Amino acid sequence: MCGTDQKLIWNGGGKLVEKDFYSELSNIVSTEQIKKDELLARHTTFRIGGPADYFVTVTNAQEAAEVLKLCSDRKVPYFVIGNGSNLLVSDKGYRGVIIKFTEKLCSVWIEEQPGYLAARAGAGAALAQFAREVARQKGAGFEFAAGIPGSVGGAVYMNAGAYGGEIKDSLTRVRVMDRSGNIMEKEAAELELSYRSSRLSAKGWYVLEAEFQFEMGKADEILQKIEELSRRRSLKQPLEYPSAGSTFKRPEGSFAGKLIMEAGLAGLRVGGAQISTKHCGFIVNTGRASACDVMRLMHQVQKAVREKFEIDLEPEIRLLGEI
Ligand SMILES: Cc1cc2nc3c(=O)[nH]c(=O)nc-3n(C[C@H](O)[C@H](O)[C@H](O)COP(=O)(O)OP(=O)(O)OC[C@H]3O[C@@H](n4cnc5c(N)ncnc54)[C@H](O)[C@@H]3O)c2cc1C
Repeated sequence: MCGTDQKLIWNGGGKLVEKDFYSELSNIVSTEQIKKDELLARHTTFRIGGPADYFVTVTNAQEAAEVLKLCSDRKVPYFVIGNGSNLLVSDKGYRGVIIKFTEKLCSVWIEEQPGYLAARAGAGAALAQFAREVARQKGAGFEFAAGIPGSVGGAVYMNAGAYGGEIKDSLTRVRVMDRSGNIMEKEAAELELSYRSSRLSAKGWYVLEAEFQFEMGKADEILQKIEELSRRRSLKQPLEYPSAGSTFKRPEGSFAGKLIMEAGLAGLRVGGAQISTKHCGFIVNTGRASACDVMRLMHQVQKAVREKFEIDLEPEIRLLGEI
């Protein structure tokens, strides 16, 4: 344990012992799609995280629904992962099943309609590539998304945003499945998207596909804006180090990075984790950071900012496993 009081997404203990579980799983997906004791550091942009008991890739909605139903029926903990770009995973890993969407669940469809551009993407699709494709097909207003290294599903879950834009602005509908594997269509409004937050988890829904509408613009101007935002990002953000993006949410009326800098914490280290000197809103992995290092550093930052400014910084990154 790191000795912190952060809430965990799942805080189970002990090794998965269900003997029949593997064979039931392999009745749904091929054995190549099931990895045992897969190191989650390979699946997070922080490059941190111990092994998951099972790491299962699902290629279509049917498989996704059946795996989810099996886990629910067998009471085996599970977690749907996107691109792992907003996650801090325990050094002890995850006792349960990590589910990752691939193949058909990564497809993208884009179609010009009278007066607007309609676009649909599988939850596993890379948000940045999707945003560039939208731009090439003259969809405007999604430029902010081209620099966010998440999946479409993770971006909807987080209501990802940057430079004044967010997913909420253009999302119209989603195809979701619930914990029993039922697949449903929902209006975007039902997700109650707000700043880096959605009601997906509260409702027990997982995104399979997301539909967007964009105003039409000029492809060259839109692509130029993407390049400009990308230049701004690489100038201001420590993209040369593994991280999970902004560590803390923006507190009302201020910026987490500014408060952390003004508290004199730039460059502060715990083990291999460091407050970036380029952008104090980021904790970076300088090489061999553990999840414990990151948690301890987050804790020190929260304490210092609370003492200096009486502001509580809320983590933006999601914690997974027993940290
Ligand atoms: C260098 C860097 C820059 C970043 N810049 C930004 C930025 O500008 N703006 C911003 O908002 N974020 C930013 N991020 C954070 C991150 O990229 C976003 O939060 C992104 O939306 C997370 O998507 P993901 O697929 O990686 O999700 P993950 O990190 O894999 O998961 C995040 C959460 O989403 C849930 N989730 C994933 N897929 C699904 C699904 N299909 N259905 C339901 N829930 C799902 C997971 O269960 C988890 O709770 C940045 C990160 C990095 C590393």
